[in-house]
Amino acid sequence: MDLAEINKNRIIELKKLIDNANYFYYTLDNPQLEDSLYDSLYKELIAIEKEYPQFKTEDSPTNRLGGEIAKGFKKITHSIPLYSLDNAFNIDDIKEWLSKVKRLLNESQDELMKENFLVAELKIDGNAIALKYENGLLKNAATRGDGSEGEDITNNVKRIKSIPLKLRCEKIPQWLEVRGEAFISNKSFKLINQHRERNNEQLFANPRNACAGSLRQLDPKVVAQRNLDFFAYQVYLPDDYDIDNNYIDHWDRLEFLKECGFKINEYSSQIYNEFELINYCNLWEKKRQNIDFETDGVVIKVNNISAQNILGFTQKAPRWAIALKYPAEEVATKIQSLDFQVGRSGNVTPVANFDPVQLAGTTVSRATLHNFDRFEQLDIHEFDTVVVRKAGEIIPEVVKVIKELRIKQSNKFNFPNCCPTCGKELFKNESEAATKCINHVCPSIQKGALKHWVSKSAMNIDGLGIKIIEQLFEANLIKTVDDLYNLNIEKLNSIERMGEKSINNLLLAIEASKKKSWHKKLYALGINHIGEVTAKSISLKFKNIELLKEATLSKKDNLSEINGIGLEIKDSLENWFRNKDNLNLIKNLQNKGVEFKEEYIKKIAPEEINANFHEKEFVITGTLKSYTRNTLIQKIEEKGGVVKSSLTKKTNYLIVGEKPGSKFDKAKEFKINILKEEDLIKLLN
Ligand code: NAD
Repeated sequence: MDLAEINKNRIIELKKLIDNANYFYYTLDNPQLEDSLYDSLYKELIAIEKEYPQFKTEDSPTNRLGGEIAKGFKKITHSIPLYSLDNAFNIDDIKEWLSKVKRLLNESQDELMKENFLVAELKIDGNAIALKYENGLLKNAATRGDGSEGEDITNNVKRIKSIPLKLRCEKIPQWLEVRGEAFISNKSFKLINQHRERNNEQLFANPRNACAGSLRQLDPKVVAQRNLDFFAYQVYLPDDYDIDNNYIDHWDRLEFLKECGFKINEYSSQIYNEFELINYCNLWEKKRQNIDFETDGVVIKVNNISAQNILGFTQKAPRWAIALKYPAEEVATKIQSLDFQVGRSGNVTPVANFDPVQLAGTTVSRATLHNFDRFEQLDIHEFDTVVVRKAGEIIPEVVKVIKELRIKQSNKFNFPNCCPTCGKELFKNESEAATKCINHVCPSIQKGALKHWVSKSAMNIDGLGIKIIEQLFEANLIKTVDDLYNLNIEKLNSIERMGEKSINNLLLAIEASKKKSWHKKLYALGINHIGEVTAKSISLKFKNIELLKEATLSKKDNLSEINGIGLEIKDSLENWFRNKDNLNLIKNLQNKGVEFKEEYIKKIAPEEINANFHEKEFVITGTLKSYTRNTLIQKIEEKGGVVKSSLTKKTNYLIVGEKPGSKFDKAKEFKINILKEEDLIKLLN
């Protein structure tokens, strides 16, 4: 198949998929795809249609706007069409739009290029509606429909309290057409879904769908119960109404809408320069979490109405406005190849390489498929289109394959039977999702263990970056972590690009690491499931590695007395201590002066003891703004507090960062003191 043929088929597949998504989204109010995923498929279709215009058909969804009119409603023809908005996905897209606007307007028209050239508004994630007033009274209301015809929802709209049935402005126009967004607040949305859950009704996917479903209710009483709201964002006036030229700007028209009795979004702003524009976009990307309605971006509009009229419309959207969509957390992309990486525990992780995409604000071209089980479930073939997600801080992952877009006869990727590094047969325990290389001298496992030992949160050996570890490993100077303590000037001299100063510094850092605290060393050993917090809890109970080994192997069960230690961790410790190589490693390290005991734990000086922290238990949830998690843990510990990984009734404080997890709800249930990050910092200081 040649490239043109492949793209022709891709167009057919994308059209089918997008049409189907449109039907579920617009007609059934029951979306089947994430919006950002829909957007990336749509963007791909536009790009291919642009490159191969000969394959673009009349019925392409890129020619159409909105959905079909639902049964049971009368149609209303819009006297002025309701358009969509063109999308921008980053500030550069906005800048490009702005220079195009200026070019089209011809910069010489100074009066149109005045200072407050733009208005920025939040893009409310609801449903566009058109309201028609005659002699001051609401005559009818319609959905956007396909842009030229919508559904008559007048009776339902009359139940929305923020829509005036009678205009309040002083001079009543003969007619007035108002456009805006009907929406449901997050609070009302929660209540609606709670009610539906109690009645065993299907839940709404999000406030937008709840709003669309409500506007198209056949019984207006239901609409009244759903507490819909409305922000007006555009008005059309009769030509002879504004004889005093009071409303020549969009901004003035928003003021006029207020006078008429409409609610205008209070966060709209006039924009005087590019700096302000960028600030507004960046600010609202973060601040949108703090408002009680959903927004899916920012809309930038040319302020002057004459300028708007000159710019006009494309087939689907005004040229005088653009929507900056917030960074997607889920997008579609095409697989290029798969890698299989062996980690320090021997687990083999499949990793997908794909066409680079913008995801949550960064360019991403690799994502994990996690493990063998997930790999099998996904059933990935060559050239598949996959959905990649990156929510919050989490590393990118492949979440699904769009099978409808699979190229026929493409080959399935197979999981290797042998370790891609050492070639030894891989092992799969039925009860675990991962497939493992169990060859303890597999270079990937050994290098992984070395990298973990020297890492910042473990022994923090400065000057031992990944590259140097690789070089030392390849030169057979280090294989296991105890070899690090045999390094000397002579050996390091053989490493390329290592000068005298860096060699000395490195040797000093290695020597200093011997004095690291016991819990850091325990964590540095890289025992499965022993993270930093668990290592700390264990170190408080067992003052050295011998005591820990004895408790683990004798199964006296005093391990379980430690908060957060369950069967998984106990099994992991037992496996680790039963392995002779590990016991040898400990012996070798001890012989070289690396002790695994409490004596190096920092003792708290009496003046450092702070009653707010002393022997208090802290748990942290969410993303922190001011400190990394490690630094915060260290600071709390320095004041005499203890940081635990799981929340129990004994926890004294839950520290809450941005996007807190389920611990937040649990803390409220247990009536545990909740401290915002800022409050904690005040206490610390
Ligand atoms: P849009 O939602 O991207 O933008 C246009 C709409 O923005 C307008 O119609 C208006 O209702 C709204 N809007 C909100 N605040 C506004 C403001 N201040 N000023 C002006 N307009 C404002 O475009 P669309 O054509 O309504 O819908 C397309 C989008 O819908 C897609 O980008 C996709 O995200 C979503 N969609 C999703 C699916 C799915 O399956 N998930 C299917 C179809 C469409």
